[in-house]
Amino acid sequence: MSTLLIKGCTAILTGNRETPRSTGTDIRVADGRIAAIGTLTPNADERVIDARDCVAYPGWVNTHHHLFQSLLKGEPQGLNQSLSAWLASTPYRFRGAFDAETFRLAARIGLVELVRSGCTTVADHHYLYWPGMPFDGAAILFEEAQALGVRFVLCRGGATQTRGLESALPTALRPERFDDWMQDVERLAGQFHQPQADAMRRVVMAPTTTLHSTTAQELRESARLARALGLRLHSHLSETVDYLDASRAKFGMTPLQFCAEQDWIGDDVWFAHLVKLQPEEIALLGASGSGIAHCPQSNARLGSGIADIVALEQAGVKISIGVDGAASNEAADMQSETHAAWQLQRARKGMLARPRYDGGTFEGGGDAATIEDVIRWGTSGGAAVLGLDTGELRPGMPADIALYQLDDPRYFGLHDVAIGPVACGGRATLKALLCQGKVIVENDVIAGLDLRELGAQAAEAVKRLQQRAG
Ligand SMILES: [Zn+2]
Repeated sequence: MSTLLIKGCTAILTGNRETPRSTGTDIRVADGRIAAIGTLTPNADERVIDARDCVAYPGWVNTHHHLFQSLLKGEPQGLNQSLSAWLASTPYRFRGAFDAETFRLAARIGLVELVRSGCTTVADHHYLYWPGMPFDGAAILFEEAQALGVRFVLCRGGATQTRGLESALPTALRPERFDDWMQDVERLAGQFHQPQADAMRRVVMAPTTTLHSTTAQELRESARLARALGLRLHSHLSETVDYLDASRAKFGMTPLQFCAEQDWIGDDVWFAHLVKLQPEEIALLGASGSGIAHCPQSNARLGSGIADIVALEQAGVKISIGVDGAASNEAADMQSETHAAWQLQRARKGMLARPRYDGGTFEGGGDAATIEDVIRWGTSGGAAVLGLDTGELRPGMPADIALYQLDDPRYFGLHDVAIGPVACGGRATLKALLCQGKVIVENDVIAGLDLRELGAQAAEAVKRLQQRAG
């Protein structure tokens, strides 16, 4: 059996809550898994990666994305809009402009961005579906992820409702029939879903939003089918205060109460955003063991707010990080996202500080989240949400390992280099990135990928999309 030794790390951050830093400097990988961590001597014929001046993290787990949006960054009509207006201006306006070729290119760009930030697991909320869809986006996504060697979780989105947009819709906005959609989920589960804890491919039931995409009965039926197939459940929820208002007006209850009534809550469910919640919704989420994909950059870019991750975690909610689509996050990589999560939880808590004369008891939010907290959310937290046994650096775990070489001046002068990849922002050089023990990035290079060519293709595709969307 061939083994690989990562030798001489300056620091190893584990993603584990109780032991967030390892005392070891070396990691041995055998048969796709971490065989040992400690001070290790190279075996004869063992491949050694020199990790001096490097910091090891678990590979990031991104739990919410829309990869097709990777060609819609900074789209001018939506750039200065809040959620609803932005949805209409950008992602929905461009939906029908995608063909198989542009969709594949968008997926590739988004996945490459993520991989270059040290991400090894990607959950994509793919909702580009309409009757007579001319290409199979799911197959393209799985192919592109496989080509890069990362784990891929397809969250099969969709809708049977038009949210008040009536029948004179462009083809690409027409909703699906519920039965067709569920049959497709069954097909995808049969074709791609791997139940094992170290799966490379998963399928998830994922209506685009639980409040607006289906009828209540269909929502309940989707949960039943998902659980019968052994699939998890995912959706957008409470991204802005509009969700609360709409849910009260439509159903006479909070969004989380509505989800609970349709069995759309539990330890196999996670929601993106959860920015605007009532205290009783936080308690309900925590008691049910549900999870969140926290998307701080998208929430900031769209002016939606900052989710109260500290309160959610205290309530028992599983915390993970998602970059969300690049049409509302022009830095859709996991280093940028975790950097933002770290800073924005502190800013959020600080916003609540009141002058002492007014009865306040703290002066700021500097203790709201540590770097170790944020690493845990972005690694083992994500794995817990997805039901995967990854996201931690300890013996026995799948070897998903990011090795950052902190050779940029932004890291020079750090008293604790271990925090650099998150605390300093920006992208660090990847000495190596491993997924399931396989080296997928080496010396900052993805083998066979021409980044200059990818950039040229992107520029052409942006022009094409603009022409088609009009
Ligand atoms: Zn989203």
